[in-house]
Amino acid sequence: MTSDRPTIFALSSGRPPAAVAVVRICGPQGGRALELLIGRVPPPRRAVLVRVRDPADGDIIDEALALWFPAPNSETGEDMAELQVHGGQAVIAALLGALGRIEGCRMAEPGEFTRRAFLNGRLDLTEVEGLADLVAAETPAQRRQAFRQLKGLIGDQAETWRRQVIEALALVEARIDFSDEADVPEDLIDPALNAAQQLCETIAAALADGGRGERLRDGLVVAIAGPPNAGKSTLLNRLARREAAIVSPYPGTTRDVIEVHLDLAGYPVTLLDTAGIRASEDPVEREGIRRAAARAAAADLVLWVIDSQATERAADFDVENIGKTECWLLRNKVDLAGDKLWTNSEWQSTPYTRQLAISAATGAGIDGVVGALAEFARAYFAATESALVTRARHRQALEQTVSALDHALGQSRSGAEELIAEDLRSAATTLGRLTGRVDVEDILDVIFRDFCIGK
Ligand code: GDP
Repeated sequence: MTSDRPTIFALSSGRPPAAVAVVRICGPQGGRALELLIGRVPPPRRAVLVRVRDPADGDIIDEALALWFPAPNSETGEDMAELQVHGGQAVIAALLGALGRIEGCRMAEPGEFTRRAFLNGRLDLTEVEGLADLVAAETPAQRRQAFRQLKGLIGDQAETWRRQVIEALALVEARIDFSDEADVPEDLIDPALNAAQQLCETIAAALADGGRGERLRDGLVVAIAGPPNAGKSTLLNRLARREAAIVSPYPGTTRDVIEVHLDLAGYPVTLLDTAGIRASEDPVEREGIRRAAARAAAADLVLWVIDSQATERAADFDVENIGKTECWLLRNKVDLAGDKLWTNSEWQSTPYTRQLAISAATGAGIDGVVGALAEFARAYFAATESALVTRARHRQALEQTVSALDHALGQSRSGAEELIAEDLRSAATTLGRLTGRVDVEDILDVIFRDFCIGK
């Protein structure tokens, strides 16, 4: 089945130059490629020191460690070879060039190794996603969540649930098939529906986690907002310069919103610097402001920054628009003339749950902001790490399952066996889609697109 597949190869280690480069080869020509390049196939799973030669002219490319993982006991389930060479540009170019000239071998596409592992049943789809998350993890909590998923946390659970649905379905189908026969127990529908009821409640409980698993994956969103010149960008830059800042310009970064990723107490927090929110006549600026306000409104926390020296009191953040989002007041530029926190009566009329006096320019009070944010993240994520659902895709599949089960439970008990069976079948299908057991072609490209080449 796999023998007509092309053999793929790629640089699987990081960007050269580096001390070592790992080139992986996967597919039916893996063994032959090793014979051509190093003159032999090493014993399985044993590292051997070899000379790598260009098969075209016998020219020595490098000395390497070679490893051989024959099918099916390899990461992808196919024959795999690994050459660890010196991580120089020319070494890697010569090796990849030589591999490309071997018949049946070509460069791997992004995620293609993992895709083969999936197609060969070595990983289910949720484990593939866990692997992608593990590679992308920026904080310890994200890493732990991704690792649990890679090890089948949600996949195994979904598979157990799917088996339970299928058992219930089997009862209903028995009732349908043998309804005329005397020795089939009269009531098979009740036990089937009882099982469906229980399952429905269990899955609904797993979904009622407030989306925290997804948040841990994506990061808690904290928006820095406030009137122009209050010091928002200065604050963001100061926070980004801290050791905890993860400098990763996001592809989604636009002119209007800048993102900085922070690791606070091990939890991911994404800070957004939004364009100054104020009344404006300029249509371009108005659009920027509209987007900034929308991002801020969707955030988990808003830091409303004001210039504590400003004589006019700036408008408060529009609480109507932000719904339940928590909002803190940061009184900036206290280095200029000191600052007086608002008195209780001034304070009570505001929408803020907290006020902090800071100087983004001198750094005064910034530790307090970071400490408060870390506390906020810790409280938010408490007990989250066991969350089952880490992606919208999982949530959608489980919601569809619950709704199919609900529908089955709503059918009248007698005479509706066919309809109940249909609902249970659809519940089994949505659970099967979660792990990639049934018709998932359409989502595969979306999932594997996120991978880098060589993974
Ligand atoms: P934004 O429009 O809210 O992003 O404001 P900026 O960060 O661009 O700051 C506006 C001006 O205020 C700049 O000239 C900053 O140098 C200055 N500024 C920002 N924070 C402070 C501060 O804490 N103290 C003082 N003295 N100046 C500040």
